[in-house]
Parts: sequence; C-alpha cells; structure tokens
Amino acid sequence: MIIYGTNGSHRRTQALPGLACPACATPDALHLSVFSRYTHIYWVPLFPYSKPVAGQCGHCQRVWEEKELPGELKPLATALKKETSAPWWQWVGLALLALGIGWALIANNQDEKDNAAYLAAPQVGDVYTVRSQDSVGAAQYSLLKVVSARGNTVELVTNEYVTNDVHPLSRLNDPEKYSRVPFSLTYLDLQVMLNKGELTDVDRLGQ
Ligand SMILES: [Zn+2]
Repeated sequence: MIIYGTNGSHRRTQALPGLACPACATPDALHLSVFSRYTHIYWVPLFPYSKPVAGQCGHCQRVWEEKELPGELKPLATALKKETSAPWWQWVGLALLALGIGWALIANNQDEKDNAAYLAAPQVGDVYTVRSQDSVGAAQYSLLKVVSARGNTVELVTNEYVTNDVHPLSRLNDPEKYSRVPFSLTYLDLQVMLNKGELTDVDRLGQ
C-alpha cells in the first residue's frame, strides 16, 4: 500500500493598512495569508500544487476563503500569490525521484560501456549473460563462459541451466553447472548477439 496525501503550510501574512473590514468596519485590521499546498508520499513532500489565499479581520476574526474574498481584496490577493513561491522543501520528493532516475541512467550507461569494452577484448573467465525464449515466448537467461581467447575467436562453455532472472550470475555461475565441451564464436558473432539483444551483459569477475 502506498501512503499518499496532501498537506499545506503557511507562507506569509500581509497586513492591509488603509482598508476597513467589510464585516465590522474596523480600519487597518485586515490581513491576507498565503498557503502552499503539496502532495506527499510516505510523508515525504513530493511537489506543491496550489497556493490558496485567505483574508482575515484581526478585530472581528471573520475569515474569507479565496473565492469569497470581498471585491477590493481580490487584486491584492492575486498580487500577493504571484510574489509568493512554494518553499524548496515541498519539491524534495520530486528532486529525489529525478536524482534516482539520473543515477540509474548513468549507471546503466557505464554498464553498457563496460560491456562493449569487455566484448571487444575478451579474457578467459569473462561471463556472458545470454537471453533466449522458452516455448511460450517468455525470456529466459543463461550464461556462457570464456575458456580461451585467441585471434578473433573465443572458446566458450555453455551453462546447462536457465532461469527467468535477468541477472543469473549469482544463481548459475558455478563451475559444476557448465558443459565440459567448448564451442567457438568469433568476435563478430559476439557483436551481432549484443546488437540483437541476445547477449545482455558481460561480467569480468573480480572487476
Ligand atoms: Zn472585522
């Protein structure tokens, strides 16, 4: 369950000298207050979405919500709203989300660069994650391990297990789980598999 809601905080109050209260006629007792309303998720403010304004008389305590403000207060309320911004902390949730997405993009980009670099110069012990489809079209993953690399050819052994885990390394990378019989692929074959999305990750263990 996601705990989600809204809340508000007071931003500023401004006195309105020179005006008399429309209710009790007391001069210089009116003031306007601006609030900032925001959404929150798990009590972390996400983003502000409105700035309600209200008028009050300090003498008779009469309060006017924004839409029932007396006519002469309306332009003052509009001006006050315009020069009042939401506090920075009401944007914290959205800023954290943006940072998280940015971090994920950078990490993903670095991972792709590493994959391309490792694949261009294979080393014994490199482990490739390969994707295939089962009989009903669902993705399944397994591993290939480099056992020798010379010229532009690599020899690989096939992991004899598959999993639906996108990152099968921890589950499958056990020497007992690999075939004893190697087969060959060229660097070009590997590049084609990468481009087709059949080879989804390269791990150089210990790095
Ligand atoms: Zn009053």
